[in-house]
Amino acid sequence: MLRGERRMGELALIESIRLASAARTMGRVRLGIGDDCAILRPPSGHEVLVTTDFCLEGRHFRRDWHTAESAGHRCIARGLSDLAAMGAKPLAAFLSLALPTGTERKWVNGFFRGLRGLADQFAVPLAGGDTAQSPSEHILADIVLVGSVLAGKALRRSGARSGDLLYVTGSLGGSAAELTSLHVGTGSNQGEEHPQNFPAPRLAVGAALLRRGLATACIDVSDGLSSDLKHLCEASGVSVEVELAKVPIHPLAEGRIELALHGGEDYELLFAARPGAAVPRRIAGVAVTQIGTFVERGRTLMVKVDERGRRTRLDAGGWEHRIG
Ligand SMILES: [Mg+2]
Repeated sequence: MLRGERRMGELALIESIRLASAARTMGRVRLGIGDDCAILRPPSGHEVLVTTDFCLEGRHFRRDWHTAESAGHRCIARGLSDLAAMGAKPLAAFLSLALPTGTERKWVNGFFRGLRGLADQFAVPLAGGDTAQSPSEHILADIVLVGSVLAGKALRRSGARSGDLLYVTGSLGGSAAELTSLHVGTGSNQGEEHPQNFPAPRLAVGAALLRRGLATACIDVSDGLSSDLKHLCEASGVSVEVELAKVPIHPLAEGRIELALHGGEDYELLFAARPGAAVPRRIAGVAVTQIGTFVERGRTLMVKVDERGRRTRLDAGGWEHRIG
């Protein structure tokens, strides 16, 4: 590609990022795009949290399944969900994007529209980034989310104790169900429910859990309930019993408990709370359901309990994203 073309492409992209960063910055970004580095100003007494995610075409999204808006939304949703899981407030996002030769301008605009749409919901400025020509035919993105939380107060995976109750926000399995229907070509942009295309990170819930001191441990459901619950149990050194009848299944996954247990990318929060904690049924407008109990065991074990009280092992199944 000619250098001039490349430069023009880059300038247009940087302009897109600049426009995308027009979100309210709330004074947390002292200096955004336009110098060698961004300068962030976390609220005083806060610690800075950083999370980074790949968003690779053919692995995390497909241009024939996901719209450009969906790819942009999903790109930033994952990091926002990680911040939510620790009770953090987002400060800024940074995006590096490599585009193959000939990527349609329309796609790039749509991607930024999707990304900005979710970023604006939480007033997250895009405070920097880089662009390059992709060395392959795939779109490659890498996003960094920076957040902050009152020093020493971040929700962690490691605080659950035997006797604590296990809660989940929202419902599970919807994202995997929608992905399955995209796969078989029955996906549709009609209707309101798009947990796969447009997941909703639970930042307000995470912040409320932290503020009210309700959770002893927390993690977000990115790989699937069984996988993420295992991470929480291992970090906390406890075992858990999950009551299957209590697990809230997303309407798109109705009757498919396996998707609720092992489907990923729901971006709900799983948390532990002391049995005496006054956990409301809704937090920040999102349903909260108690689905299990943490128990003491020699080594971490997850058990599922069916309606008749029969106990069987719950193995971390993890949703293999059948995108590539
Ligand atoms: Mg996570």
